[in-house]
Amino acid sequence: MAANLKQQILRKARQAGAELTGFAPVERWARYAETPEPFFPQNIFPFTRTVITMAVPIFIPILDTTPSIVYSELYNTTNRMLDEMAYRLAVFINNSGYRAAPFPRDGYGDISVLVKRPEAAFSHVLAARYAGLGTIGFNHTLLTPRYGPRVRLVSVLTDAAVEPDPVMEKSLCTRCMLCLRCCPTASLTDTRQPVASMDKTRCAIYHKELKEQYRYPCGVCIKVCPVGADRERYGANTRKYLDEKKVLDENPLAPDYAGWVHMRTFGAINPNDK
Ligand code: SF4
Ligand code: SF4
Repeated sequence: MAANLKQQILRKARQAGAELTGFAPVERWARYAETPEPFFPQNIFPFTRTVITMAVPIFIPILDTTPSIVYSELYNTTNRMLDEMAYRLAVFINNSGYRAAPFPRDGYGDISVLVKRPEAAFSHVLAARYAGLGTIGFNHTLLTPRYGPRVRLVSVLTDAAVEPDPVMEKSLCTRCMLCLRCCPTASLTDTRQPVASMDKTRCAIYHKELKEQYRYPCGVCIKVCPVGADRERYGANTRKYLDEKKVLDENPLAPDYAGWVHMRTFGAINPNDK
């Protein structure tokens, strides 16, 4: 029954728009002990035996323009999709005779909340890691083989004991440090660690500014990451990313960046506008 249910869930998730779906038994939260116990799914909804995590991709050409209205709108689109996907899947699982509840994609009310306490109620990134979708990069995001860190995530918590997917133990992070070098707020530090020390408050304050300008979120640390088959499709922009700030400081009309600058200039508030 559970094997059959897994195939049905995979089909439903795919039909709802999920590009990646994985299954994590709750025991993995205790086994890896990477987050405090109150954040364990079984301590949030005690019936939980399996966490199903789904991902949708973010497109590189749009992310390249960040901070911009087009990336902001794409982010909003993925938010709607993720919550609807999780809702529909939870209804399906309930109708199949199991308990299930969707966990909304962000788990915080507004970015101003994260400025005061920079922690969401549940980590879909860890859930996705335990569901075998990818590994954690230096930039704190989930790195996946198909899309690198350019995915958005949501989860469904259920009491169905679905066959787990294997955890990826070999890190996908190349430790290129592009995320650290390109971060506009220098929030990522400490290259000795597998995962950066992150000034989450500083990052959240920057996001609050961007939200007030209608060009939220930042996303530079996922834009520049070389991991993922999507990067191969669109080409490596490493030099362009590294030079971006210097070139645009010297010449805001630099032809190589014209499309990105255009999307930062129209449709949102750009404080650099003269
Ligand atoms: S940009 Fe480089 S160091 Fe940062 S997460 Fe991606 S691969 Fe790792
Ligand atoms: S989201 Fe932006 S500000 Fe925050 S760590 Fe990533 S690059 Fe830096």
